[in-house]
Amino acid sequence: MGRPLSVYDGGQAALATMHGKEQAFSAILHDILGLSVLVPEMIDTDALGTFTGEVPRKGTMLETVMAKARLGMTAMKLPRGLASEGAYGPHPQLPFVPGGIELVVLVDDVAGIIVHEHLVVDAPVFAHRSVAAISELEDFLTNNYFPSHALIVRPNLPDRVPGIIFKGIGSYCALDEAIAVCAKSSKDGKALVASDMRAHFNPTRMAAIQKAVRRLAVRLLTLCPDCDNPGFGLVDIETGLPCEECGGPSTLPLWEVYGCVKCKHVSRRRASDRASRASAAHCLFCNP
Ligand SMILES: [Zn+2]
Ligand SMILES: [Zn+2]
Repeated sequence: MGRPLSVYDGGQAALATMHGKEQAFSAILHDILGLSVLVPEMIDTDALGTFTGEVPRKGTMLETVMAKARLGMTAMKLPRGLASEGAYGPHPQLPFVPGGIELVVLVDDVAGIIVHEHLVVDAPVFAHRSVAAISELEDFLTNNYFPSHALIVRPNLPDRVPGIIFKGIGSYCALDEAIAVCAKSSKDGKALVASDMRAHFNPTRMAAIQKAVRRLAVRLLTLCPDCDNPGFGLVDIETGLPCEECGGPSTLPLWEVYGCVKCKHVSRRRASDRASRASAAHCLFCNP
């Protein structure tokens, strides 16, 4: 009732997760699309790569997230699968600021489509520091929302392989102990303390995934005007908004390009109203 028509109404999709991501997917997809999310019990998504680097990721983020979705589909014997994949590091636009990206996908073998959406995360809880004792972490713990956001501890310079690692640390007592053990087995006597980026240990990340899932759901409600398949949406931004001084192309967006995930249909929409002009600061000629 009150929901727009969705081709997924009453359907089911597998969600491959070991990290409680149904929290971010289930309610939204049910409310917006009428799609039920089922989580397979025995699945090892870590085999496709981990944040802590014990298993390096192969291929692009999109390849990894698609492979993950297919793991769930195989496990549940369902033709539709969901997955998410995140990457965190230095912010792409802002120096010295951490940033992240969350990618979510629906692999739909019924319609023969793969639809994905992403979210750029401007303020993740993602940090690390090497310390000899917990007393050096006071501001770090406050700034990174410990203990609601868990931590990982390992030796800063491990003196043997495989190194010791403590994950999902959510109490001062466990943190203190882990730092002592790791500092002792590090060549420099320090432990490396870092945010645990697994979704169920990092509520800020879980909320970011949820936002990306909402975008995915909205996209899945949008049908291609040509072939009627779901997933029609923004595929590209073309720059070139005319300069206010010389009328030449600027680096600001001129067109939003919308495309289908199945057929070749695209449509263009102005990124801003027709009268708007770019400041000369963004002009390729006035300010090369
Ligand atoms: Zn100009
Ligand atoms: Zn189409």
